Amino acid sequence: MPYVKEVFEYLKRTSPSQTEFYQAAQEVLESLRPLMAKYPKYTQHKIIERIVEPERQILFRVNWLDDNGVIQVNKGFRIEFNSALGPYKGGLRFHPSVNAGVIKFLGFEQIFKNALTGLQIGGGKGGSDFNPKGKSDNEIMRFCQAFMSELFRHIGANTDVPAGDIGVGGREIGYMFGMYKKLANKYEGAFTGKSLKWGGSLARTEATGYGTVYFAKYMLEDRGETLEGKRCVVSGSGNVAIYTIEKLYQLGALPITCSDSNGMIYDEAGIDLGLLKDLKEVKRVRLSEYVKYVPTAKYTPIEAYPEGTNAVYNVPCFAAFPSATQNELNITDAKNLLASGCICVSEGANMPTTHEAMELFIEAKICYGPGKAANAGGVATSQLEMAQNAAKITWSFEEVDAKLAQIMKDIYINSSTTAAEFGEPTNLVLGANIAGFRKVADAMIEQGLV
Ligand code: GLU
Repeated sequence: MPYVKEVFEYLKRTSPSQTEFYQAAQEVLESLRPLMAKYPKYTQHKIIERIVEPERQILFRVNWLDDNGVIQVNKGFRIEFNSALGPYKGGLRFHPSVNAGVIKFLGFEQIFKNALTGLQIGGGKGGSDFNPKGKSDNEIMRFCQAFMSELFRHIGANTDVPAGDIGVGGREIGYMFGMYKKLANKYEGAFTGKSLKWGGSLARTEATGYGTVYFAKYMLEDRGETLEGKRCVVSGSGNVAIYTIEKLYQLGALPITCSDSNGMIYDEAGIDLGLLKDLKEVKRVRLSEYVKYVPTAKYTPIEAYPEGTNAVYNVPCFAAFPSATQNELNITDAKNLLASGCICVSEGANMPTTHEAMELFIEAKICYGPGKAANAGGVATSQLEMAQNAAKITWSFEEVDAKLAQIMKDIYINSSTTAAEFGEPTNLVLGANIAGFRKVADAMIEQGLV
């Protein structure tokens, strides 16, 4: 496939400095070599050249007034990447690190993740470089309303359905949905992750974390292993990390770490889930507060992490659940994990592992679930929310959770059988990329050149 190089050169020339996007594209395109060699139709239809180009990119200005009456200006993004399988679907991220390259990498990943769920959802992503940290509730509301005053015209229940991601949870979805409803004059499921009081789905909040643990369970089961009684490290302390920890406890595992951007907690007795929820979901404070309540736990500030490493991955464990952000786990961290006997990595975050670290996991043949497969439970449950909204019905927590577990099992089976079909049964990066791509590519061919 000589033109992979040409596609890269084209991307670098036409979308300069989008390093995270190049990384995500490289991983997918490299996986596709055996598929492209076997099926010339994808080359004939120029699917690679078409799939790396978003169908539409919306970049806009967001101005809002802070509590001191000072004008603030932020960037707004929505990348509508691919609609072959359904309406654009993917979260909104509010974080100062957000730029066009970050949103593009997330949107690109989302295409294949959403395809893997087996549900009718296309790929999209959006967000802003707005930093929610330290903002008052009124400032959050004013920002969300200003953001929606532009985005509302581009989204809709059958067009593009945003949800949460880093910095966007139930509160922000509420403010954005309120403004959407007012401006569009429509009460429809144009967002997922909504409150349970007005159209949200039971188990949506828990879904990404639960799904990542289900995925680990299925990977391990195939090797005659379980999570029961095993030490697990988790990074992050947002929605994904919290519900990963909750499901790990339900399966009898022992989650011993969590982290935020300032440092990490190591609690040998197991993370106190009630306390973590209180600190992060109610009090909204830094994780360093944890040791005030559990003096036996150890807090390591980020400045004290061993040079060039993420201290979470220095803790010996059986399984690791990276649930913070992109590129949080590098080659040194991967070596540390393998040396400590870790045999399972299931990614709750999007692209948390660097390219070299990922290659090391594949080479070591451990149970390695890449984000687009392992964390697809969140967006899959968003689609279940869309289905309930469209039918104007609600399913019980147990019903949604059972559907989620089945979807995660299907994703695992699809990824592992596809990996086996192409000669590398343990390589779920290969399997997930080919399985996701194939579904989108076939739909694109069948729908003609649009
Ligand atoms: N932000 C989540 C993801 O990365 C969820 C997206 C959604 O529910 O639309 O998949």
